Amino acid sequence: MCRHVAWLGVPRSVAELVLDPPQGLLVQSYAPRRQKHGLMNADGWGAGFFDDDGVPRRWRSDKPLWGDASFASVAPALRSRCVLAAVRSATIGMPIEPSASAPFSDGRWLLSHNGLVDRAVLPLDGHAESTVDSAVLAALIFARGLDALGDTVTEVGERDPNARLNILAANGCRLLATTWGDTLSMLRGPEGVVLASEPYDDDPDWSDIPDRHLVDVRESHVEVTPL
Ligand code: GLN
Repeated sequence: MCRHVAWLGVPRSVAELVLDPPQGLLVQSYAPRRQKHGLMNADGWGAGFFDDDGVPRRWRSDKPLWGDASFASVAPALRSRCVLAAVRSATIGMPIEPSASAPFSDGRWLLSHNGLVDRAVLPLDGHAESTVDSAVLAALIFARGLDALGDTVTEVGERDPNARLNILAANGCRLLATTWGDTLSMLRGPEGVVLASEPYDDDPDWSDIPDRHLVDVRESHVEVTPL
């Protein structure tokens, strides 16, 4: 399982979300606390955010996050109302290349996948960014539309009972997430909402999202519904 995190709220730097928290993605890349599958997330990372014109921007790598001094230098200067980042533990047999690291994008959404899925069950006609299962799943979700995220995840989960399908997506003014086989936590505050595979600090306000649920965040309004 990889680990992912997203923010929607007042402008925050990518570093504030990814590098600075005591148990943030940087620490989760080598010492995650709640990871049930895989030991660490050293097979790549990706950070995405929406610029002032609402355009998604991405920086992805196939190397460990802890070794990237350039990212550590620039991340404090990248500020956005909407950020989505991930660190990767590659599923056995999957390619290790920058384009296999989340976030994936269709030019409007940024999307990350924690888990695995049999690519043979994914009825995708179009193009995926990589042959990694997560990229093929992302392309299918983009093709179906994010409003159908819950239906798509449920359908894929029924076709592959071993799949784990924790999705996290952002479009600049909305976050969507699913829980299907792995953990997801939420932190709501006056300045915005964080969704993360696991809490990035010990703030008692973190809440755990139950398995097989859909989370929809718009502004400070949060809806959690069963799948
Ligand atoms: N299956 C995906 C990959 O290989 C995601 C892996 C994960 O969540 N650890 O990248």
